[in-house]
This record gives sequence, structure tokens and C-alpha cells, in this order.
Amino acid sequence: MQYYSTNRQSPVVGFKEAALRGQAPDKGLYFPERIPVISQQWLHQFRSIHKGELAFQIMQPYVGGDISAERLYEIVTETIHFDFPLIQLEEDIYVLELFHGPTLAFKDVGARFMSRCLGYFSSDQTTKTTVLVATSGDTGGAVANGFLNVEGVEVIILYPAGKVSHVQELQLTTCGNNITALRIHGTFDDCQQIVKEAFMDQQLAERLQLTSANSINIARWLPQQLYYFLAMQQWPTSQMPPVIAVPSGNLGNIAAGLLAKKSGLEMGNFIAACNINDSVTDFLETGIHTPKQAVMTYSNAMDVGNPSNLIRILEMYQHDLSLIKSQVSSSKQTDEATIHAIRSVYEHSNYILDPHAAVGYKALKQTLRKGEKGLLLATAHPVKFPEIVEKAIGTSIPIPESIKPLFTLAQQMIDMEASYESFKEWLWYRSKQ
Ligand SMILES: *Cc1c(COP(=O)(O)O)cnc(C)c1O
Repeated sequence: MQYYSTNRQSPVVGFKEAALRGQAPDKGLYFPERIPVISQQWLHQFRSIHKGELAFQIMQPYVGGDISAERLYEIVTETIHFDFPLIQLEEDIYVLELFHGPTLAFKDVGARFMSRCLGYFSSDQTTKTTVLVATSGDTGGAVANGFLNVEGVEVIILYPAGKVSHVQELQLTTCGNNITALRIHGTFDDCQQIVKEAFMDQQLAERLQLTSANSINIARWLPQQLYYFLAMQQWPTSQMPPVIAVPSGNLGNIAAGLLAKKSGLEMGNFIAACNINDSVTDFLETGIHTPKQAVMTYSNAMDVGNPSNLIRILEMYQHDLSLIKSQVSSSKQTDEATIHAIRSVYEHSNYILDPHAAVGYKALKQTLRKGEKGLLLATAHPVKFPEIVEKAIGTSIPIPESIKPLFTLAQQMIDMEASYESFKEWLWYRSKQ
């Protein structure tokens, strides 16, 4: 498979180069030259395919010959080595739980796939790859966990001091080894700005092979389509295909779902479920995208004012706005609505939504028409956002066994002021050692 840049000013590249670069040199995003079409025959029997085999068959055309079939099979099997249960919440609403990975967030899938691909590509190289990532909480943990002990890859995570939850900070700072956590005394935007400057710094580029682990990277973006295949494997055959609500920020997850739909997987329409940072709504109305300053909300992983994957949705639909609108809508929810949804679902169904899934739940409730069924993607475990969730349900959330060991590990982080100069000096000195 070849990938072109959405800005069309850079040469096409294969999977390996696109994954190693992250963003194209012209600052566009890489996009596959063609979207593989799934045969009707495959769709008739895909429910009975083992999930590792399924993941291999979906990902193989995108990777092509850049990773041996044998190793790719291992990579995808490790990537999805946990459960993706589909749960019926109400008569017409089902939830796909995407939070059973090691850091309890759906980003585990993308991070695990990408880390293993980079590990494979680094094994024949003498220089190390350095992954830089700015996080508002969830991305950093998934990336730290996914890349831990991957040979030939160093990971540097920048997170804003005092602005991530306790569990999130433990996930970022207790890995050690090839994972370094920088506690930046500033905001998430400051962290992101430092990372952006580093990617544009020619001096650094000569010394280090830098790449990003955000969803602009195809190796993080593409495997997310697997959620939709795993959901539809479990979807009751007696039901019509569901309307799907995706809690959205950078639109990576929903863009991956639309990619699966383009490939032929039968699903209903999609809702980009947003908090008050819903620049996608204006876009769908006017066809013009105006980046906005992000506002802080309870669903902080979706506090994005300039969603980077919007361009991929446009590419998929050949920039045809009316076609996009026939399959994708958006919804905007306030923090009050989020709290209300968590509380009412807890009271009626004894089920605890996290703030992001709660936004998706509200979106489905408002959009579903009579007779339709809805599928909600639950993108994080509620324990990652205890203050908000406990405020809504009035009781504490049990801590899952799988993360209890975190509380016994020592944290390691480096404190740094929010300045590019400080960051560069630190990185420069470190790379000389
Ligand atoms: C990252 C994240 C989102 C948003 O996903 P995008 O692909 O950026 O749209 C939603 N919910 C949670 C919990 C997240 O961590």
C-alpha cells in the first residue's frame, strides 16, 4: 500500500516510511491510495473468524510487504489481546467497551500496534527512533505502556503539571526504562507547542530520528477500525445495523470507523459526539472549518478545537460535503448534560459511564429515531475520571484489579518549565550521552 499526503506536496511512501515519519514533510497527513474493499463472501462468514485472524486480514493490505506476514500476525494478536465486550444497556442502546486494555483506554489498541511496528522497523537500524508525545492524559499512558521495553525506541512524554488525573499520572510516570515523563509547568497546549517546534527543528532532525505517536500517525490511526469489526461480529443478527456514536476529539476514532464502512462493513450512520468543543458541527453546516481555541471540560480527552483527522474524513468522501452529511452528524453536550447522563444511566441501569462515553450516550438519545438501534463506543474506564464520576453517582468507583499494582510503584518524572529552549537543551544534552 502507498500513502499520499493530504497536502499533495510530498512524495507517496509505503507503510514503513509513513509510520516512521508520522506527518508528511509538507505537514499533510498520510492517507492510503486506495481503500481495500471487502468481499460479500467475507462479510457472510466474518462472524466466525477468530479475532486475531480477523485483525490480520483487515490490517494486512495496509501494511503490505513492509512487515512479514508471520510477524504482522503476532503484532495484531498482541495488539488486541484483551476483551471488547458488547453490552446491551437499554432496549435500543448497546455499548462496546473499549477500556479493557492495559491503561483502560481505547488508545491502547493504536499505541500497541504502532509500538510493535516501530520496534520491528528499528531492529534493522543503528539509530534509535525517538517518539515525542504531548498528552492531556490518556494518550501518554497508552503510549508509555505500549512502548515499554520496545528495543530501539525511546519515548518522551510531555504532560501538564496538575492537569491529569491521579491514575493517569501514575500510568505516565511509573514505567521507567525507555519511557521518560516530563512534567511541564504549563498547559496541554504548551506541551503540544513544544512538540511541534521540535518536529520543525532542523538541528534536532539531523541528530535524532523523531516521530510522533498522536493519531496523525497511520500506525496509530488504522488499527482503530478493528473496533468496528469486533463490534459487528457481536452485533445481534436479528437487528438492523446500528447508528454509531463515537465520543470525538481529534476525530481519529470516527474516521477509522468510516474507513471500515467504506471498506464494506455494514453499519448505520455515525454521530461525532462532542463536548462543547464541537467545531465539526460548524463544519458540517457550512463546509468551512474554523479552528477554535479548546475549552476545558469534564471529557478532557475531547477538548480539541482543531481536529486533525477531519481532513481524512474529507479525503474519504472526495470532499463531497453532502455525501458526508448523509452519513455523519454531530452532537454537542455540555458538562451538565454529561453529569446528568452518568447519573441517570447509573440509576436506571446500574452501569457507570465515564464522561466521554456519557457524551456519546446523550448524543444517541437525542439522535436515535423510533425503531433504530444505537451503538455507543465507551472509550475509557470511569475510574480514570473519579472526581467527576463520583460526583455524579454519589459513591466511589471500585478500582479494577489490573491497575492496583500501579499504586505501589515509584514515580519518576522530570520537572520542566514550559519553554522550548529548556526542552531542547535537555534533549540535546541527553542525546550526546
Ligand atoms: C482520545 C479520546 C477520545 C477522542 O478520540 P479521537 O480519536 O481523538 O476523536 C475520546 N474519549 C477518550 C476517553 C479518549 O481518550
